[in-house]
Amino acid sequence: MSPESLEEAIQNVIQEGKLVPKVVIAVDLFGQPADYPEIRKITQKYNLLLLEDGAQGFGGRIGEKKACSFGDISTTSFFPAKPLGCYGDGGAVFTDCDEWAELIRSYKVHGKGADKYDNVRIGLNSRLDTVQAAVLLAKFDCFEGMELNLINDAAKQYSEKLKCIVKTPAVKNTFFSSWAQYTILFQNQSQRDYVQEALKKDEIPTMIYYMKGMHQQEAFVKYLREDMVYSVTEKVCKRCLSLPIHPYMKEVDVIFVVEKLYGLLEGKK
Ligand SMILES: *Cc1c(COP(=O)(O)O)cnc(C)c1O
Repeated sequence: MSPESLEEAIQNVIQEGKLVPKVVIAVDLFGQPADYPEIRKITQKYNLLLLEDGAQGFGGRIGEKKACSFGDISTTSFFPAKPLGCYGDGGAVFTDCDEWAELIRSYKVHGKGADKYDNVRIGLNSRLDTVQAAVLLAKFDCFEGMELNLINDAAKQYSEKLKCIVKTPAVKNTFFSSWAQYTILFQNQSQRDYVQEALKKDEIPTMIYYMKGMHQQEAFVKYLREDMVYSVTEKVCKRCLSLPIHPYMKEVDVIFVVEKLYGLLEGKK
């Protein structure tokens, strides 16, 4: 989220006078925390709450401050594709507010009151499955003590080897990424699509995160404003590709992918 565009969007909504801005939802995309120092300044200026979507950010930091501690409420996901994955569905909610913590504990068990057979509000079933909790407890120590460093090594190897031929991801000064994805940018869509197709033939899996911006999702069409343009998002959606990465990826595997990329791009210049 661009802090400059955020402030402009807030001012537009206030000026229009139909809606009252209440909350900013920032996303820790691909493992790197959003720019909370700047975003927080804006939420304070306009008296808004801040929600951190840390589904991809868990394990990241800004300085010593950890992802999922930046929002008034922060959330994360333990789905297998995330930095800390369990073996199915799982997630967590973080807040420093005791009152909200109590409410969330109630919502996640069907709106329970004194006990689970006393329902004081409409809630949902959002319990963390016991088996998933056990998997997470076993993985926590490796994640923090080892996997975060290993995946940063893999990302560094990719970047050093690829920076001459594609746009590699930048981690901001004092920021630490948990590398939910390692995503590069090609010159244009045809180059990206050509490379993805060729890598697939060599059984190298890649993904496009994301094909569409939020503003292109049908669910949000009714909220679109004609004066807002999303040219950066649209450009990036056409040029991005996420490469295979995980903490146990060996340097020979990184080199294997990198060499394929060199072969494809140099043959196509
Ligand atoms: C995966 C993801 C979610 C959803 O997580 P679930 O566990 O499927 O609810 C939300 N936001 C972002 C940014 C994600 O990457």
